[in-house]
Amino acid sequence: MLEKRQFYINGQWVNPAAPRDCQVINPSNEEPCAVISLGDQADTDAAVAAAKAAFPAWAATPPSERARLVRKILDQYEARLHEFAEAISMEMGAPIDFALSDQAPCLPWHTNNFLTAFESIEWVRPLGPQAPGAAVVMEPIGVVGLITPWNWPVNQIALKAIPAMLAGCTCVLKPSEESPLNAMLFAEFCHDAGIPAGVFNLVNGDGAGVGSQLSVHPDVEMISFTGSTRAGRAISKAAADSLKRVTLELGGKGANVLFADADEKAVERSVKRMMENTGQSCNAPSRLLVERSVYEQTVAKAVAVAETIKVGPAHEKGPHIGPVVNKRQWDQIQGYIQKGIDEGARLVTGGPGLPEGFNRGFYVKPTIFADVKPGMTIEKEEIFGPVLCVIPFETEEEAVKIANDTPYGLTNYVQTMDPAKANRMGHKLKSGMVEMNGKSRGAGSFFGGVKQSGRAREGGIWGLEEFLEPKGISGYDFTVKDAAE
Ligand code: NAD
Repeated sequence: MLEKRQFYINGQWVNPAAPRDCQVINPSNEEPCAVISLGDQADTDAAVAAAKAAFPAWAATPPSERARLVRKILDQYEARLHEFAEAISMEMGAPIDFALSDQAPCLPWHTNNFLTAFESIEWVRPLGPQAPGAAVVMEPIGVVGLITPWNWPVNQIALKAIPAMLAGCTCVLKPSEESPLNAMLFAEFCHDAGIPAGVFNLVNGDGAGVGSQLSVHPDVEMISFTGSTRAGRAISKAAADSLKRVTLELGGKGANVLFADADEKAVERSVKRMMENTGQSCNAPSRLLVERSVYEQTVAKAVAVAETIKVGPAHEKGPHIGPVVNKRQWDQIQGYIQKGIDEGARLVTGGPGLPEGFNRGFYVKPTIFADVKPGMTIEKEEIFGPVLCVIPFETEEEAVKIANDTPYGLTNYVQTMDPAKANRMGHKLKSGMVEMNGKSRGAGSFFGGVKQSGRAREGGIWGLEEFLEPKGISGYDFTVKDAAE
């Protein structure tokens, strides 16, 4: 078992102030695979103090130099990709091929997109010809606390730590206690890339401990959080006293509106997208709304696709889906499946219990419910497992109404070959993002929602600006050469 009790503070691996062991469980076999420490107030304070001390010099480092150092993180990633993917796979259950092809590459993908967007930042800009001598100066906000989940762990770290460092902020990362190992490797990448001491710090811990301590800390100017709506609410309240900036990426209950004129791959694409990462994606298209005229044939096709999806251990190569992350999550998903049956939805494939051939590991059968009615528990709440709800609709208006009748608003999806209808739906759906016909977000786009999905905008130029504050200066002399430029 790996022993990973130390934290990365001020450029060094240090012992926790007081030992508090926490086992990391491999969800494929329910065995402990590593032991970490959960930090306490003294560890949080040490990390924040290191970040605070490092801030002035890092903020004053020329942007081009910050970009050069951040780019070097990618060399470390290239050299250690397999180790990185294996850590993700072991701790959160993503099959190794998926960890290599989809999870780990989130780091270079986001980093390269941020580096491109970073070049276009105007650090000192004139307000406009109507206001001579008025300048807007972009400044890093200060010390930031980054709190991340386990489901796409590297994705979240890359979407926060990379823009924070590029912007000139210093940071303390508290990764999910379920998936700390990839985050600790990321800290090693930063160290070996030459990121100066104190710019990036990592303290492991749980939400009640390090998570809350960062949220209330007077020296932390901003919390960037991804996780459940429950925790997002708790963090917002905790951060209120110190009036820090809080950016939130929370849960989702995406609708995927499939019209009768959808292309022939739409059903397969929709089911596979739902089951990817074992359904543990905040933007999963978990409600498939199907136009009545193609409803029964779509249900039959969806079942056929789901039944081709194999379930297996994360270390095995292949295109199967892995277990869900832990026992709590497994129990919760089983509860939802039972609720779907009890409330009268039609179970058409999958269902309760472990898949055939398994007696351990947190495996779930790819499950589809048809005839799900708006308002049923499985239609309203985020299940966060491989469970798809299929709902019929008669008209475009009805589809929009069902899709928007949720407290969430992250990504909605549309399947139609009619471009005018697609555009119309794009405008009418209430969410931060809409994806048409399987077209995924382009390089440099942002990720973010509305309503109870949180309102952060992570990625691209928007994701950099979240870590910057515009300062207005009047009477500014633009003819003087400025160090910040
Ligand atoms: P979680 O909210 O339980 O935990 C997320 C992180 O927050 C962990 O690091 C945890 O330790 C910490 N945390 C928990 N309670 C806290 C508190 N009171 N104060 C401070 N920190 C606290 O979520 P999870 O189970 O790790 O992740 C699953 C959830 O994340 C799902 O709801 C999913 O939809 C959401 N998610 C959203 C996005 C997005 O971008 N919108 C992306 C991935 C996951």
